[in-house]
Amino acid sequence: MPPAAAVVGRSVTRAFRHLSTQDLHTRRVEEAYRVVVECVAAVDPAMRLYMFGSTAVYGVHEKGSDVDFVALSKTDVEDGKGEDAATQVAKGLQAEFLGKLARVVRQRHFSWNVEEVRRTRVPVVRVKDGSSVDFDITVNRRNGVRNSALLRAYFEQDPPCRWLSMGVKRWSKRAGLNASVVGGSITSYGFNLMVVYYLLRRGALRFIPPAAIDVAQVPPVPPYLPLEPPRNDGAELGEQVLDFLQFYLHEFDAAHHVISLSRPGITTKEQLNWTKNAEDRARMNGEKINYQWCIEDPYELNLNVGRNVTPLKRDFLRRHLEKARETALLTAT
Ligand code: ATP
Ligand code: MG
Ligand code: MG
Repeated sequence: MPPAAAVVGRSVTRAFRHLSTQDLHTRRVEEAYRVVVECVAAVDPAMRLYMFGSTAVYGVHEKGSDVDFVALSKTDVEDGKGEDAATQVAKGLQAEFLGKLARVVRQRHFSWNVEEVRRTRVPVVRVKDGSSVDFDITVNRRNGVRNSALLRAYFEQDPPCRWLSMGVKRWSKRAGLNASVVGGSITSYGFNLMVVYYLLRRGALRFIPPAAIDVAQVPPVPPYLPLEPPRNDGAELGEQVLDFLQFYLHEFDAAHHVISLSRPGITTKEQLNWTKNAEDRARMNGEKINYQWCIEDPYELNLNVGRNVTPLKRDFLRRHLEKARETALLTAT
């Protein structure tokens, strides 16, 4: 028999007990922000720097999480609901700016590891300073700021839901499902879209149209959103965790439906033309696009955030979802 919700909740709560003694305030990453601002200004003083990713989504900074930055021009910000260019030309210009930025970072911080990654969908500079925080820097792309602000707006509707998200993310990394670990296929961002979609289907959150999110209204450094310990020793959290697993194991119709925040209600694969036929033809940077586990990006046109989930990885996901009940998201020891 699977463990009771209270047991699951207590176990997940216990796995995060180290956070109660940690400083989760976003000011911990403001130093990194200042360093990057100075380097960006040396390349182009008119550019503005935005922080996004988990720090923005949760309004707290967890030790060990990387920090995502994007340098935006004044026009990018003012046209804060505009679409990001996806052309090769745009990509080339971004890579050129990032090349200059990487040079400045190397000059000023010669002990840091600075890597320019060009083969990805979005050019990025990856910086590891060896001690405190690692960060990724991109340029002229609003979508990361927008999708993080959208996820945050959802979590602000019910701040304790961040525990479900953090529990799922921790589990996904430990289970080897998260794209940040070898063999993983869904990013933390993808898992967050899954969490919010589940909460929307349950009526626990109100739908927010993605078009409502405007970069011009988003603060460059995300404000701190205090994280209270789970209520009742995690009793509600435990129920939510079990219900989340139940939803993706037995209710969500992965063969026909898409996890989507783009519109209220159900989105089908048919509707997006994410069919077997399209799967056979679609390629991105030479790699196959899968439509086995579909997660629609709320801002990128025709982008499946779950594109790396092959049939094998989908079975792997299902097996881990099944096991997660017994192990309370791999927190039971
Ligand atoms: P972590 O704490 O693990 O770093 P995170 O909340 O910062 O988690 P990431 O997965 O690092 O989440 O995502 C950061 C940003 O990268 C997202 O806001 C999104 O813009 C982009 N991103 C991540 N994964 C994808 C994907 N599969 N497709 C498109 N964009 C993605
Ligand atoms: Mg991140
Ligand atoms: Mg990152």
